[in-house]
Amino acid sequence: MGIIDDLTGAVGRGINLMMDREIRLGVTGLSRGGKTAFITSLVNILSTFGEVGTAERLPRFTAYEAKNISYGGPAKPRDLKVAAFPYLRACDSLFAETPAWPEPTSGISEIRLELVYEKKDLLSFSRKGRLYIDIWDYPGEWLMDLMLLKLSYAEFSDRIRKRTATLSAVTDVSSWLKAGAQLKADAPVNVNDLHHVVRLYTDWLRESKDKGFAMVVPGRFVLPGDLEGAPILEFVPWVWDLPEGCGEGSLYRTMEERYDAYREKVVRKFYRECFSGLDRQVILIDCLRALMGGRETFMDINETFDVLMENFSYGGSSILGRLFSPKIDRVIFAATKADTVTMDQYANLLSLLRSMVKQAASRVRADGSNCEFMILSAIKAAKCMYAEHEGKRVQVLKTDYDDEPPFFPGSIPSGWSREGMEFFQKYFKMRELRPPKLNPGEPIPGINMDVLLQYILGDKM
Ligand code: GDP
Repeated sequence: MGIIDDLTGAVGRGINLMMDREIRLGVTGLSRGGKTAFITSLVNILSTFGEVGTAERLPRFTAYEAKNISYGGPAKPRDLKVAAFPYLRACDSLFAETPAWPEPTSGISEIRLELVYEKKDLLSFSRKGRLYIDIWDYPGEWLMDLMLLKLSYAEFSDRIRKRTATLSAVTDVSSWLKAGAQLKADAPVNVNDLHHVVRLYTDWLRESKDKGFAMVVPGRFVLPGDLEGAPILEFVPWVWDLPEGCGEGSLYRTMEERYDAYREKVVRKFYRECFSGLDRQVILIDCLRALMGGRETFMDINETFDVLMENFSYGGSSILGRLFSPKIDRVIFAATKADTVTMDQYANLLSLLRSMVKQAASRVRADGSNCEFMILSAIKAAKCMYAEHEGKRVQVLKTDYDDEPPFFPGSIPSGWSREGMEFFQKYFKMRELRPPKLNPGEPIPGINMDVLLQYILGDKM
């Protein structure tokens, strides 16, 4: 039954792809990068298609008017086993009397919507076309695991060994390193001792994550989902000297087996379910948070995204090519939360983003995919306005809350430099803004969402 279901699904998707009727959009980013806010805003915009005022709000989404696009309603999800993205719950939070940011989801979720548009046939007769947009959301913590797909246990251990050296000045590496040094690789597993080291290793991962580092693996250690307490999560990288002769049943072999099982049963499954069929990808990056974390965090993001990109197949896609070997043909790297800087800083934010994902972007381009950079805010929580300061007109931000006076958050550097970063860390006022106050039914305001729509959808109708 499973195989038949899979085949039927694949054929159905094949037909949709062949007719160019479906876009499977992956929304990628580190945890707290803004994925949940982004999907909520995107669904909100798509569901206003066809309503009065939508064209005016999306002036740069030129396909909208040209193709007379309207919203066709929620569509049957592609995978009935996957949770639905909790759009209504997200709206309940945002539109509440005291608005709150939507809660991020703790597992994989999907939402699929139908768009209806006008298309001309060969004789220039108009008829209705349908396009399904299938959006996938998953926790950022799990995303990083994709890099494990290509690493053996020994290679994974080696990578972490190198990281302990670079991160020892900024995180507490020594606790788990010291405790782990007491473990005996060639002896049978002592469940309690191993569990103790796993716990300390997980604490280190959590600390790294909180400090904005991207490479936090294995991701299920910090967000186990339904694997909480399972033996498959009871291993650590072996970063100490390895004695000869670690045979069957030894601690080392057991951890290697668990790592392999983790890679195959957890990570590969996740990859198959979420990523293997993506057509387009939006990669959301919170550049300011990374810059606040300092040089190590900044470099870490560049390196991590580069390693991650190895796991996606990019490339221009002909219809037939996509039917047999789906490929991501468009990628957008977006600096999120652009509403937390003033407009005069947008150019710098964009160039900061470019410098941050330089390696990853060149990998995507080298593989033949189209790649764009942009800044955006999915849910705009502050307006940029002018104010007088010491006789000069300056740009400031103002939220919807009367008890919050206008403020100038500060300037941001246009790229990586030690001085630029230090200046930023010292003077930039980074704050988590409260969500905007919205009236029921009011469209969620954003920045540059129309540019993004044109890039994702413009050529598909
Ligand atoms: P996720 O973990 O990637 O799903 O991230 P979320 O979408 O939950 O966003 C994390 C936090 O970032 C939110 O709770 C907000 O505080 C903030 N955030 C997300 N998007 C925006 C935005 O467009 N503007 C502002 N000001 N804050 C945002």
